[in-house]
Amino acid sequence: MILDLVTKIVPFLILTYIGGNCQDFGYDGDEGPVHWGEKYSQCLGKHQSPIDIETSNVLMKNFPPLKFEHFQHEVHEGLLENNGHTVILKIIRGKRPRIQGGPLKGIYEFSQLHFHWGPNDTLGSENKINHQSFPLEMHVVMHNIAYGPHKAAKIYGGLTVLSFLTSISPNDNKNYDKLEEGLLEVQFVSSNKSIRNFGSLDNLTTVDRKHYFTYEGSLTTPPCSEVVTWIEFVNTVPLSKEQIKAFRSISTTGGRLTHNFRPVQPINDRFVYYNSGISHSKTTITVLYVILVFLLINT
Ligand SMILES: [Zn+2]
Repeated sequence: MILDLVTKIVPFLILTYIGGNCQDFGYDGDEGPVHWGEKYSQCLGKHQSPIDIETSNVLMKNFPPLKFEHFQHEVHEGLLENNGHTVILKIIRGKRPRIQGGPLKGIYEFSQLHFHWGPNDTLGSENKINHQSFPLEMHVVMHNIAYGPHKAAKIYGGLTVLSFLTSISPNDNKNYDKLEEGLLEVQFVSSNKSIRNFGSLDNLTTVDRKHYFTYEGSLTTPPCSEVVTWIEFVNTVPLSKEQIKAFRSISTTGGRLTHNFRPVQPINDRFVYYNSGISHSKTTITVLYVILVFLLINT
């Protein structure tokens, strides 16, 4: 009786586990992005990501400053994992970075970061700017602390993704040394590697984080939930050709994971904003100055 129950329940649990973690998708053929909507209806939604940001169509806006907390702190221990779709980094020990301000309503905490790349340096990023692709895109996924990591992935406003594009540099970016070493240890699907003294998140990102595009969108992998406030930074992270090439060497089921980017999706009725980086205090001073000049002229 018990054995009978086990033989019936275990396969169900395995299927539920796989389904819940959306392992049954890929980037080619029958599992490719055009088929995702057959199993995951949200992938057919009207507010999907990534998108092609056309700078002539964006709206200028002065958002409050983004406040980065603990981004400068050392990640004492990180866990790098090959999940078959990307390389993902989680924080095991160390203060979890937080962000608030900008277009965000609430405080968001680090969940994980991962990467998207292409078969060569001419493509690989998910979001594009003026039809231009970039060779690699890093997504720092953060959840609204009001909901917690699991509930946040199902609620509008639950997640923000800080997205960093890369550019080719003649020199290696030394801040990526630990990550690059880790890539060699996670070549196979489901392999992982603990990395001590990983460095800080500040080191992996750009210095200028004032200038960014922002829009409301979705996860770029199934279940494609439309719960993400995207923050796409304008300045790129420089990496060498060799450093980017290392990402293409990791394996997925049935071969190398040479590309893992979803094609751009229609913007439909959404607006994309550009934060010009002028702080509110400066705006206030400018407004006060204009009022003062106006009063002086009229007295
Ligand atoms: Zn991503």
